[in-house]
Amino acid sequence: MAGGSFNFHRALLSRLLWPTGILFASTLWLVFSTMLWTTDRANEVAIQHQRARFSASLDRLVERVRLEIGQTLGSTGLEVLMRQPGGPSAGAFELLSNRFRQLDAVLLVAPPFAVRVGVADHARLTADRVPKIRALLEDSVAEAVRSVRLRGEREAGAELKARLLAADDDLYVALALNLQADEVAEDASPLVLALLRKLTPTEIADLAALNGLTGFAVSRDAPDEGLVSVQIAGPPGEPALYLAWQPERPGEAIREDLVPASVIGFCLAALLFGAVAFYLHRVTRDLVRSQTRSQELVGRDPLSGLANRLAFGERLDGDLVEMGTSGRGLAVLFIDLDRFKDVNDTYGHQAGDELIRLVAQRLGSILRPEDTLARFGGDEFAIIQVGIPNVRAAESLARRILDTLTHPFEIAHTQVTVGASIGIALAPENAIDRETLMRLADTALYQAKSEGRNRFSLFQSRMDETIRMRKMVEDDLRDAIQNDGLLLQYQPVYSADGERIVAAEALVRWPHPTKGLISPGQFIAIAEERGLIIPLGEWVLRRACEDGKRWPGLRIAVNVSAIQFRHRSFVESVTRVLESTNFDPGRLELELTEGVVVDDADAAEAAMVDLRALGIHLALDDFGTGYSSLIYLRRFAFDKIKIDRSFLESMEATGESAILVHSIVHLGRALGLTVTAEGVETREQQRFLQALGCHQLQGYLFSKPISAADLDRLIARQNAADASVTNVA
Ligand code: C2E
Ligand code: CA
Ligand code: CA
Repeated sequence: MAGGSFNFHRALLSRLLWPTGILFASTLWLVFSTMLWTTDRANEVAIQHQRARFSASLDRLVERVRLEIGQTLGSTGLEVLMRQPGGPSAGAFELLSNRFRQLDAVLLVAPPFAVRVGVADHARLTADRVPKIRALLEDSVAEAVRSVRLRGEREAGAELKARLLAADDDLYVALALNLQADEVAEDASPLVLALLRKLTPTEIADLAALNGLTGFAVSRDAPDEGLVSVQIAGPPGEPALYLAWQPERPGEAIREDLVPASVIGFCLAALLFGAVAFYLHRVTRDLVRSQTRSQELVGRDPLSGLANRLAFGERLDGDLVEMGTSGRGLAVLFIDLDRFKDVNDTYGHQAGDELIRLVAQRLGSILRPEDTLARFGGDEFAIIQVGIPNVRAAESLARRILDTLTHPFEIAHTQVTVGASIGIALAPENAIDRETLMRLADTALYQAKSEGRNRFSLFQSRMDETIRMRKMVEDDLRDAIQNDGLLLQYQPVYSADGERIVAAEALVRWPHPTKGLISPGQFIAIAEERGLIIPLGEWVLRRACEDGKRWPGLRIAVNVSAIQFRHRSFVESVTRVLESTNFDPGRLELELTEGVVVDDADAAEAAMVDLRALGIHLALDDFGTGYSSLIYLRRFAFDKIKIDRSFLESMEATGESAILVHSIVHLGRALGLTVTAEGVETREQQRFLQALGCHQLQGYLFSKPISAADLDRLIARQNAADASVTNVA
């Protein structure tokens, strides 16, 4: 059980933990990737911004150079340059170049860009640079040629075009100005002034510093990964120049800042997951426990905590299987408390419950752990005693149970004693399947109860027959009474000398198709329990009165059950039967037992007075077995006592019985009662009883109970014998 629920718990927990874990992991992943993405974007934006700012700074530098040169140009030399006849002369250029000391080259270019005249810092502007400069000027000069018209009075700086150029490892600002005057003839080729100014390393470094760029470098090669660059194009066919720097990456900083937060977050998440896992563990464990418990409860009796019938049956099945391998037997004991109902009625249900609990405790304390104790409800308990070598083990357990239960229980501040009846069935002797074993134990229990309680009874096969019979009686008796299914036999009662039949006792039988004549001992008690004794008694009385009319000289004795007698309308029904059958009440004798008078003496006395008033005789049956109190005999108006046949049975064995019979006869005679002895089976008994002065005798010695027809014949024979005797006389 425990292992099963443990595994179930594990399975349940892992099924819950997986999705929870995945949820946590994906949430973490989402948070981290969002963080990475955001910081990457921040880096990108920052780099774009840096590049744009730096480019703008470069543009501003170029513009400053343009303005500087434009101012110088505008204020001076252009006029000089232009007024030269036949175009600018070398001398004029000399002048210009002196003025523009800071320029690296001053060139006059005539399309298609042949440098007409050029003065420069020749050391700096080597010949091989000239084509580069030309190439550089191509688009900017062409643009200038197209759009700029040089007029007399104007700001030369405004017409000046500027561009940043990379050549070799240096950066230049290249400027161009269209010198074509309006008055130049149509066919004259345009003339362009080209200026070149190299940016100093300091200027560039300052620019970088101004933009706060770190690791700034100018290089011909494409910069390493991780560096950001601005590319400055060279002349066509020439490699570009890169201005590269270590970019500022704010995302990285954010990430670094976030590391401790992330670690904390991760730890918190892990903690949270741990907490959730723990909570799930607890919840599922409790769930599994409560489920296990409710499963257990299904098999438990809530009051005593013992196994219930269901669990008992399952255990028994298991034990029977085990018995097959162990080779030892087992016993099923059914226990029924004898006075439980009294306790319930007297002290209340709470006390009854308490008693059940205490009984359960006591029973539990005398069992071995491997045995099973169960409560089936009410005051019924059951035990499986396993591994027993023989029947004596079961008997000894039964004795111990009876012994432990006879000690008083302390309930509701009083001492209560209960007894128990126990039925035992054995496996494999009686049966080897659960159902039969339980049924047989129940049968044995029934037997123990009917034998007088506080005893145990081992199942015997005849018990089963008893029970079956009982069931049959319960089912069919009502029908038999209603449909004349019963019959009466008559047992003659003789005078003490055994010569004359003086009376006949009506004894009821139930003829059964397969079981033959069923004796009243097997169905009278059930008829009493089932409320059938009233119709049955009335049927017997009526039939006896009808039959009795055939034997005019005989008194007819009819047995009356105590329950029947106590019934309110008993006297009335007797009167009715006598009237309807027209039977002489003086010939009717009712045989009552002491039970009739014990319970309600006043009512009994009244009824007896009424019956006697009708002329009916009353006999006290089975005298000597009950209270046999003299008081009854004196108070109640009996005509007769019938000494119980058990006295005669034991008379030979014990002298005591003989003495008792002796005194009963004398007592009866002294009270003026007729004394009858029943169960007379031997001549010796007859002689003894006759000698004592017994008036009448009844028993197998004279006749068994016989049919009415047989009694006819018996009486006829007697009458014939009488006649011959008379004749002789
Ligand atoms: P009981 O009134 O004591 O009846 C006498 C019983 O003893 C009869 O048994 C009878 O067959 C038996 N008996 C008579 N002589 C001898 C003998 O010499 N030896 C032995 N061993 N037995 C002898 P039965 O007919 O089985 O009746 C048993 C009991 O059933 C009766 O005991 C009586 O109490 C009751 N009973 C019978 N018929 C009726 C009835 O119609 N109504 C009521 N209420 N009870 C009846
Ligand atoms: Ca009788
Ligand atoms: Ca009797």
